[in-house]
Formats: sequence, structure tokens, C-alpha cells
Amino acid sequence: LPITVKEFAEEIGEAPNNLIVELMNMGVMANVNQSLDEDTLELLAEEIGVQIKFKTEEEEETLMRVGPEIEDKEEDLEVRPPIVTVMGHVDHGKTTLLDVIRKSRVAGSEAGGITQHIGAYQAKVNEKLITFIDTPGHEAFTAMRARGAQLTDIAILVVAADDGIMPQTEEAINHAKAAGIPIIVAINKIDKANAQPERVKQELTEYGLVPEDWGGNTICVNVSALQEQNIDELLEMIILVSEMEELKANPNRLADGVVIEAELDKGRGPVATILVKNGTLKIGDPILAGLTSGRVRAMFNEFGESLDKAGPSSAVEVLGFNEVPAAGDFVQSLEDERQARDVASDRQDERRQSELKSDAKVSLDDLYNQIQEGEVKELNIIIKADVQGSIEALKASLIRLGTDEVTVNVIHTGVGGVNETDVNLASASNAIIIGFNVRPDNKTIKAAEKEKVDIRTYRVIYKAIEDIKNAMAGLLDPEL
Ligand code: GDP
Repeated sequence: LPITVKEFAEEIGEAPNNLIVELMNMGVMANVNQSLDEDTLELLAEEIGVQIKFKTEEEEETLMRVGPEIEDKEEDLEVRPPIVTVMGHVDHGKTTLLDVIRKSRVAGSEAGGITQHIGAYQAKVNEKLITFIDTPGHEAFTAMRARGAQLTDIAILVVAADDGIMPQTEEAINHAKAAGIPIIVAINKIDKANAQPERVKQELTEYGLVPEDWGGNTICVNVSALQEQNIDELLEMIILVSEMEELKANPNRLADGVVIEAELDKGRGPVATILVKNGTLKIGDPILAGLTSGRVRAMFNEFGESLDKAGPSSAVEVLGFNEVPAAGDFVQSLEDERQARDVASDRQDERRQSELKSDAKVSLDDLYNQIQEGEVKELNIIIKADVQGSIEALKASLIRLGTDEVTVNVIHTGVGGVNETDVNLASASNAIIIGFNVRPDNKTIKAAEKEKVDIRTYRVIYKAIEDIKNAMAGLLDPEL
């Protein structure tokens, strides 16, 4: 239920009765408490000559954020552990790598502790910690990013030395690049007789990742996850890169973070794993996550040990939410439980009205206006096609369409149908998707509608180029 006649009347300073009359003239019978859908609202606004603007996602976000938004002072900041995601092609060894690090390096493993899956764990390297997100792959990573939560500081790209760069490797590279985070390459399976690490390095250069020993600045480590070779070296490289990134946080403030997993546990009620990004989360803290609130009743680490506080970059299972929050929700601890509850309920109201908002996502139909209003300075495009040749041809032609006002970037390409991961990447990077001789499936179409991502499919290259060109010039024929 977006907005009622009465609320809209108040919003624009008009008598509700006038609006009802106006609606009647439009053939809509309404009373003051009737809610108006987006189309009716637009028509009504046009009739009475008021400008309405639907809220952008950013404005919504600001409204939804409360609490200690104070910037930290430099002197309050302390070094924090890096948060790392392992990505790469299926079967290249992501899970094996995460397992071997968990088994040998987790802080309590010498004490014989058995880790449980809570969504993340911390490894200890020369007294320094690294937080690993326990779900490998770029899908989860990008789904989080699409929701506005950038968690990961460093991406580990696993490439099997006997297989080389494969489609999902390429996707992972593009996703990490779009997020602007450093990539460390773990060239895996070097124990295999047919391993060709040098060939992998050659392939990497084609993606702009030039290995250090080839004069570039991409760190590559040859490893065998299975035989536990060079794992220490890889971990040391992660520490090195994190020190270069100067990752810091202020442990002496109320916590904020992100929900990485959440479920309703039969015995314990709502349980959420929270990755703390800043501050320290403590037992008894009022908390707010997305649409739900509560108070931290108990916290557990990956050994099931009970904790009374959790500092920056640590992941903890938290009990005490009134309802199950969603993965990707921002979490904040607040001074006051009532405030947390009020904000959660405000957000629920907001959410109910949120069909009203049309996100300021890029779309071809509105591209010209967005360029004129300075909202769009670069047009990001994802190209999916049936064959590589078409991708290359399209890419080259599209990039050439760039003007002084707007540059055209092709942020990701791939052979195959348009899928949900493409939609998430497009949503996170404000891109449109072009499918050439390929189509999205129903699930993807639904996701695109939800995320308001513009997908265009073509069978002729020049038609795709013409559409983009016309859209940039404001000459696109409206889609029928
Ligand atoms: P994921 O799909 O990327 O998570 O890959 P997995 O970790 O499930 O590994 C896929 C297969 O490769 C499994 O059979 C592993 O045992 C094997 N594998 C993983 N790492 C290595 C390695 O370093 N050497 C060898 N020879 N096999 C490995």
C-alpha cells in the first residue's frame, strides 16, 4: 500500500476533497483512505499540475540509516583484520582451500576446537587475523553488493593450474574489479602433473592482471590446497595486501555491521550471523537490522563459545532479534532499545510504501534525461551473447559511442544466457544488460523487475548499437 489520498493531499498541501473530485474526473472512485498505485498517482499529479518525484534508493537509504553516523577521528582508528572472499570457477578448489585454512589456521584449532559453519571464520597468521567469508563464489558477494553492502576487502581468485581461466573465473575477475577491491591469485592444484602455472599467468595478463614476476602488480601464489602447499605464503600475502590497504576501524563505539546469514532456529529463535564492520558489539546492546530490532542476548563464535563482545571484522552468531533479519541487512547497535524498535517499525512502514519509489537506475528509455540532469556520466553495460565473436564486435562498437558527456564502459561480458548474477552485478554497478541471441529465463526476468534492471535483447548487432546511440541522444523510440 503505497500512499493514501489523504497522505498525498497532506504531502502536496491540497484539500483531500479536491483530489477526490479530480480522481472522479479521471474515472477513479476513491475515498480519503484509499491508497493510490504508482500509475494513478502519476496521472493525478499530471492532472493537478504538481511535480512528483519518487525517492531514489540513496535517499531511502539515508532515511533508513540512523544512529551514530559520526565520522571516526583518525586517532581513534585501529588496524582491523581484512575480510576476504574466495572466488573462482567451479571445481578449481575454493571449498578445499577454505577448509584447509579453517582446519589448520583457525585461532582455536590448536585447542582442538571444532568449527561450526556460521558464515565466516577467522584465521590467525603470525598473531594477525584474517576473516574469511565461508561461502565461496561471487554470487553471494554480488548479491550482497546489490543490496548496498560491501563487505569484502580482498578477493582471492582461485584458478586451477591444470584448467586455466574459465567462464566463472572471468566473472569473478569482473565482479571484483567492479567492486574496486584488490585481487590475489591463488594458482591451485600445482601438485598435478599437468599443472601449467605459467600458462595461467599468461591468461591473467589478458584480463589486465599482470603478475608481479612479469613486471605487473598482481600477486600470484602457486598453491596446492589438497596437499597444503604454500598456504602460509598465500596467507602472508593477504596480510601484506591488507597492510597496504590500511584497513582500520574504531573499536570504541557502538557497532555497525552486516547480516551474512540468518535463520529461525527452533530452540533459540531468530539467529543471525553478523560481521562487525566498525565498533564493538556487546551483550545487552540494543540492535537494529533491516526491518527488525532487538537486544543482544547472547553471542557465539565459530566454536560455539559464548562471547560478551565482538570487535571490528569479527563474525558472531547473535541471539536476541525479534524477527529474522535478511542476509545483507545493515546492522546497528543503538543507545536505546525503544529507538531501535521505533526505527524498525518506521522502516516497515517505509517498506510498505516502497512500491512508490522508482530507483534512479539507469534505463535506456530515460538515459537522455539522466545524462542531461548529470545523473549519469558513464553508461555501464553487461553483454551476454551466444558466441564470443559477437561479444567482441558489440563491445568494440559500443565503446566507440562514448561522448564528452558520457563514457561507455563494458563492465562484464560472457557467453551464455542472461542470469540472476548478471542482474545482481548490473544492479550493484548501475548497468544495463544486453543479450545478443540469448534471453533471460523467467527467474532472471523477475529479478530484473525487482531490481529495476534494464535488459535488452537483440538478434542484429547494428540494432543494438543504434538503440544505445539513440538512447544517448534522446531519440529512442519508446518500447512497445
Ligand atoms: P570448488 O568447486 O571451487 O569449491 O572446488 P572444490 O574445493 O570442491 O574442489 C574440486 C575438486 O578438486 C575436489 O575433488 C578437490 O579434491 C580437488 N582439488 C582441490 N584442490 C586441489 C589441489 O590443490 N590439488 C588437487 N590435485 N586437487 C585439488
